[in-house]
Amino acid sequence: MTNDSHSPPRLTLAHLPTAIEPLPHLSDWLGGPRLFIKRDDQTGLALGGNKTRKLEFLVAEAQARGARTLVTAGAWQSNHCRQTAAAAARRGMDCILVLTGERPAQATGNLLLDQLLNAQIIATADRSDRDRVLQETVEQAEARGQAPYLVPYGGSSPTGALGYVFAMQEVLKQDEDWDWMVFASSSGGTQAGLVLGQQVFGYRGSLLGISIDEPAPVLRPRVADLATDTSLALGERRAISADMVQVEDRYAAPGYGVLTDRERDAIQTFARHEGILLDPVYTGRAAGGLLDLIRRGFFPRDARILFWHTGGQPALFAEPYQSDLFR
Ligand SMILES: *Cc1c(COP(=O)(O)O)cnc(C)c1O
Repeated sequence: MTNDSHSPPRLTLAHLPTAIEPLPHLSDWLGGPRLFIKRDDQTGLALGGNKTRKLEFLVAEAQARGARTLVTAGAWQSNHCRQTAAAAARRGMDCILVLTGERPAQATGNLLLDQLLNAQIIATADRSDRDRVLQETVEQAEARGQAPYLVPYGGSSPTGALGYVFAMQEVLKQDEDWDWMVFASSSGGTQAGLVLGQQVFGYRGSLLGISIDEPAPVLRPRVADLATDTSLALGERRAISADMVQVEDRYAAPGYGVLTDRERDAIQTFARHEGILLDPVYTGRAAGGLLDLIRRGFFPRDARILFWHTGGQPALFAEPYQSDLFR
């Protein structure tokens, strides 16, 4: 790195570096390009996933500020909430989760794990209440003397996105020679970190975020602004503009968490050809997009592509996904 002026506080929560594995059978079956996978599903914290890298910086910041309780929000099957609950337990902190949407009849998948990890759960029926309930939850925790720290949605603040700036450094140390890196993008912290890391560490290939839920005109400036703000957290401002952020949004249309034939096919394809388990919400959709782009000839036949597995498999064991994986 060019500056040594600023190194933000960081804890060790993840098992790093995560492995890179070739996907030879899938690559052969498709007739190229050459596919590899970065196993960020194996970051090691309570079944892993991409939020663990962000939490190394977020929880360090929380504890530096004297916090004793992590508060965050997400969907009932949120991977982010599960990893936040685990990080809290690991650091001797409490955790409060505000979970939104129709309450599931049974605690399965990530919700079961949230309970096992001893998170306190607060339900909100719809998204319009979510911000208000989250704010009240923080205020009440403050009033009770619990010293709360608000972890943003998806861990996607500048502090959280630092996790993926350093993930870019990590992956380039393992192998620099990627034409493309492809990954699921939703709250944008993963992509913001990778885009900034590309600038800081000189990655010469391309990055492609497959949008899970947002249209590209919303996600690209969000990622660009977050990447720019993240550079300030590193002590050296870099202006990242929306035209430096590549997003494919054509697979987001069915809406967040809706399992279609595309996700089912991708999950089955990765499982059958490579023994790799994807998740129904994020990596199933992103891999479905990747397979479709390959079939459309978007990538040169001899390209080397790294797909980031960002985790999420506990949701395979939750409704409605569990009953809907085979059609
Ligand atoms: C949160 C999440 C993502 C999206 O990452 P963002 O940083 O929110 O864009 C991708 N995959 C999985 C499994 C996730 O849990």
